[in-house]
Amino acid sequence: MGTTLFLASAIGFSLILLIVFFTKKKVKSVENRIFSIISIVNALGLIIELVLQILVLSTPVELFQNSLLITIWSKLYLIIMLLWFAIFTIYAIQISFSNNIKKTSLFCLSIFFISSLLICILPISKYYDGNIMYTYGAAVNVLKIVGVISMISWIICLLINIREIKAKKYYPIIFVVIFIFISSIIQIYKPEILLLTVIGTLSAYIMFFTIENPDIKLIEQLNEARDRADKANSAKSEFLSSMSHEIRTPLNAIVGFSNGLIENDKLDSESKDDVKNIIMASDALLELVNGILDISKIEAGKLEIIDTYYSFPKIFDELVLLTKARLGEKPLEFNYTYDKSIPEYLYGDATRVKQVILNLLTNSVKYTNTGFVNFRINSIIKGDVIRLIISVEDSGIGIKKENIDKLFGRFERLGVEKDTTVEGTGLGLAITKKLVEMMGGKIVVQSVYGKGSLFTISLDQKIVSGSELEKLKKEESAKEEGPSLFEAINKKVLVVDDNNLNLKVAKRLLDPYKCDVECVGSGFECIERIVNGEKYDLILLDDMMPKMSGKETFDKLKEVPEFNIPVVALTANAISGMKEEYLKYGFNDYLSKPIEKDELNRVMKKYLK
Ligand code: ADP
Repeated sequence: MGTTLFLASAIGFSLILLIVFFTKKKVKSVENRIFSIISIVNALGLIIELVLQILVLSTPVELFQNSLLITIWSKLYLIIMLLWFAIFTIYAIQISFSNNIKKTSLFCLSIFFISSLLICILPISKYYDGNIMYTYGAAVNVLKIVGVISMISWIICLLINIREIKAKKYYPIIFVVIFIFISSIIQIYKPEILLLTVIGTLSAYIMFFTIENPDIKLIEQLNEARDRADKANSAKSEFLSSMSHEIRTPLNAIVGFSNGLIENDKLDSESKDDVKNIIMASDALLELVNGILDISKIEAGKLEIIDTYYSFPKIFDELVLLTKARLGEKPLEFNYTYDKSIPEYLYGDATRVKQVILNLLTNSVKYTNTGFVNFRINSIIKGDVIRLIISVEDSGIGIKKENIDKLFGRFERLGVEKDTTVEGTGLGLAITKKLVEMMGGKIVVQSVYGKGSLFTISLDQKIVSGSELEKLKKEESAKEEGPSLFEAINKKVLVVDDNNLNLKVAKRLLDPYKCDVECVGSGFECIERIVNGEKYDLILLDDMMPKMSGKETFDKLKEVPEFNIPVVALTANAISGMKEEYLKYGFNDYLSKPIEKDELNRVMKKYLK
């Protein structure tokens, strides 16, 4: 009776495992398929064994030897055990050599069929004394021989892969080998104790929790996929970084020379118009490169919101000026106004605030041919936080209802495919939405196709007050003193860049300052000059140079005794956080290429005035 209960509980465990395994989401792998077959065979073995037990218990001792049913059932039990050995062997070979599963299965199953046939043909002897029961004879010996051969093959698999023995996938094999060995010894003394099916159940559990657990498999697959995605992503970042560098370097030359040309009085008005167009095209190209960089930075989680104090009216005026410039000849009415209760100084990421609003304004101008563009900023003040309600409304082409959901997707351009005159990439609104959300704000759109659109952003910024406000006001009034461009006669600037065109552009940009500009093409030459005792007031040092980078040059410069010339890093690499990185490295300042006149002026003022 005890054995029956034992078997019944083993069946229970086996069924639980089967239910768990088959109801879980699985990975389609060969091992998984073998495992499911092993589990089913094992459960079948347990059921056959239980039925056999019940048959024996219900048969009177005197009828036992002649019971055909018990003979057939005993042979069925041997056959199912054979099948278990065959499938476990397929499993061992598969995990050890991952070879052709079909060939392995064919070989193992052929042996199984031959042995099963032998079991059916050969005689089986039974012993039962009313208490204990076991079988023996030729048919049982077939199972024993197949069992021994199978175990040898598993041990060979283990030995060949001895280095991987610690891998979880070998745990079930090691367990089964040890337990079959122990149970064989037990069987010599107590032949009535059948442990094979129980070992099968236990090994199935071990398999489930080591290798075949679908969770573990899925996690492994997810980890692999994540690693692959990480690698691809860093390759993308590297590619973008170098692409941005490569595009910005020639762009630097184009913008620099065009800006120089437009101030040339010898140029006739037609040529000046052409130069203006070159500048406009380069600006558009730069905007595109920046857009691609921005979206990839945002996606890589590398874009940071950098809050600073800024003057709100200044930003508003700049936005109005830029929009007016974009209006060009378009016969549009541009209305703008802001709530005068908005304090002068706010705390937030001014660059990004400006970027998102400018994008809405640019779109409205782009997609409106007649009528108006209204730009309004309202506000709600709560404590030291101000909620800006920024709205940009137009009487333009509008957006179809079905397209509104797609509006903020990357590279989505809606209904303008045929209209090639409207420039754009479909990145602007995707970036705008992400940036607004990163700043804790919201963007909504209302639009009627053919009538116009209204984009509204709500954004919280901090209000500046007290001593901080006083400080800012003082700084602002100091900035306003004197003309913006100044002359730095008698000052000496050293520009270090491996690219000749870039040197020429820098020289051209520095011309108005009337300072003495010297150019060298490598870090070595720069160090040589400093070591030779040449005196400069400022060094503009490009970072990406062959043989010796700007950073390496900077390290060497710092080693020169009494070196105290301000060094400004110059780079076409505009990937996120660059400025902070250079400042942290010890550079006094940072200028990105193409060099912006205002930025250069800020640096020149700071170090040469
Ligand atoms: P881009 O303007 O570079 O194409 P955006 O992401 O800024 O990309 O805009 C995506 C699309 O949304 C545009 O291509 C356009 O079809 C539509 N859109 C954006 N703003 C407006 C607007 N004010 N009026 C009509 N359509 C607009």
